[in-house]
Amino acid sequence: MLLNVSQLLLEPSGSRREYQVEGRAGLLDGAGESLVTGTAVLFRTDKSVWASASLNTDVVMECGRCLVVFDQHVDMMIEQEFFPLLNPATGAKADSVDDDGEALLLNEDHTLDLTGPVRDYVTLDMPMKPLCKPTCAGLCSKCGVSLNDEQCQCDTVTLDPRWGALLNLASSHIDEN
Ligand SMILES: [Zn+2]
Ligand SMILES: [Zn+2]
Repeated sequence: MLLNVSQLLLEPSGSRREYQVEGRAGLLDGAGESLVTGTAVLFRTDKSVWASASLNTDVVMECGRCLVVFDQHVDMMIEQEFFPLLNPATGAKADSVDDDGEALLLNEDHTLDLTGPVRDYVTLDMPMKPLCKPTCAGLCSKCGVSLNDEQCQCDTVTLDPRWGALLNLASSHIDEN
């Protein structure tokens, strides 16, 4: 998700350019790559480039209840300021670069990379326990079928597994007697 801003950097403060964004990136650990698309409007400020991007993507996730793998759609609005690493006119290190590590920097070749902000957004936006749908019925705790697909014949009273072990023990004693 690299946008070349070398022209924009040479333009006066207040200049604005619109970019189409399309790129693939791994957004969550272990989730493969996602296609991110949308538009980004970049504004030249006196010291920086302000990116205002409206993007969307689908992230492959596993449902926390029924374990099915599904695409979680994510719409995001990203507002992020980027500072030039080098003065585009002189190639010298720009005055505005501070070393506190908070601000994002443009790359040395005057590209702006939206991957980091997109990754941060998706990471924060993802629920701790993703669900394939709000009404997901989950898996039967006895036979393991997905209750979204079929209704099994199990006794649906759910027991704490520790009680189950005790009950098995109790019934084996009864059998022995
Ligand atoms: Zn589910
Ligand atoms: Zn069952």
